[in-house]
Amino acid sequence: MTVRFAELPLIACFGGTFDPVHNGHLEAAKEVLTRAVCEEVRLIPCHIPPHRGVPHASPAHRLAMLELAVADCPGLVVDARELTRDGPSYTVETLRSLRQDYGPDVALGWVLGVDAAATLEAWEAWQRLPELAHLLLLDRPGVSLPTSGPVADLLAPGLTDEVADLHRVPAGHTWRVRQPQQAVSATEVRRTLATGRSAAHLLPVPVWAYIRQQGLYGCHGVPGHSAESE
Ligand code: ATP
Repeated sequence: MTVRFAELPLIACFGGTFDPVHNGHLEAAKEVLTRAVCEEVRLIPCHIPPHRGVPHASPAHRLAMLELAVADCPGLVVDARELTRDGPSYTVETLRSLRQDYGPDVALGWVLGVDAAATLEAWEAWQRLPELAHLLLLDRPGVSLPTSGPVADLLAPGLTDEVADLHRVPAGHTWRVRQPQQAVSATEVRRTLATGRSAAHLLPVPVWAYIRQQGLYGCHGVPGHSAESE
């Protein structure tokens, strides 16, 4: 790989279903922003996830919740490019379009949890991903990165603990964010709401307000709870 500058600006891209965006996503995005010294972290909601069922909330609701979640977070930006693309939301296509927008003299990072990284082999053109971006891995409770097999083989040559490496070349490294872990998942949020309980402790305040206001995820039956009262 050619080193173009001593230091490249780094744009981190955090893809996900965000069904809904929760505190785990938001805290992770903030940690990536500061720990990896990024220009910005772009949160990119997928349109049609290739490897799971149709999201519970519509693209418009998921986008609205993301916009609310990042409104007071400088450096976090919502990027709707996958929502405007037909067909499955393949990360490789998203990275190609980001590379086209930003050009070769910017480092791109793709943020993903180790749970998602462990499934990398099933992703479209997965061997191409390190050519397009660095992979910035979020630890998640109870999941570890494979230490052998095709995914480990792909990532091993680019593994680094040095943030500076992410700013030396446009792509190709794998770096662990090592952020404080948040056990929350969107599945837990949806389950909590479906059983009539408050999810205020799992969600950014305006997202919790939006879910109640719009009656998403079957939360009509959560009476008397306000984000402020939790
Ligand atoms: P679900 O429970 O519906 O599978 P999720 O909470 O895992 O959802 P996604 O939108 O599917 O959220 O995840 C997008 C990305 O964020 C994935 O790479 C996932 O690993 C990561 N992620 C989700 N929650 C956390 C968390 N609490 N800490 C770190 N990474 C997370």
